[in-house]
Amino acid sequence: MDCIFCDIIKKEAPSEIIYEDEDIIAFLDINPINYGHLLVLTKQHYDNFLTVPEDMLHKLISRVQFLAGIVKRATSADGFNTMSNNGVAAGQRIFHFHFHIIPRFENDFKFNLISKSYNENELKTISAKMKEFIEIYSGQLNG
Ligand code: 5GP
Ligand code: ZN
Repeated sequence: MDCIFCDIIKKEAPSEIIYEDEDIIAFLDINPINYGHLLVLTKQHYDNFLTVPEDMLHKLISRVQFLAGIVKRATSADGFNTMSNNGVAAGQRIFHFHFHIIPRFENDFKFNLISKSYNENELKTISAKMKEFIEIYSGQLNG
């Protein structure tokens, strides 16, 4: 399978690695939104958030928390975004699941997401549908 992030993990493609352990690696995004923009991922290839096994996800999110503190300190950022894109519609371009940590500075830019509002019927319809799926899938929840 062709995956640039797997190549980076195998050191067959160049990257500026900031952190790695047995399971997790973090390297600088080649086209940063701000300098210090970090990508954090499992060394095992999983294509999106929903396919990462839970124990691996716990380790990944723990490293994201640790590294967000490092990014903030190292860049003297005022804040940071942690985010992941899942699926083409959400802007995912590399299908090896990763979190972005993006250092942010006062008034650097705004995400131009346009918010909607609900009427009562729309609110209850989507709520009922979600609760129905929780009933169906809650057996998959651990702990
Ligand atoms: P996505 O859109 O999938 O959430 O994010 C993919 C990210 O990977 C982008 O921000 C892009 O700049 C970064 N990227 C793509 N190819 C490479 C690469 O070869 N090396 C590094 N370091 N980052 C990459
Ligand atoms: Zn991969």
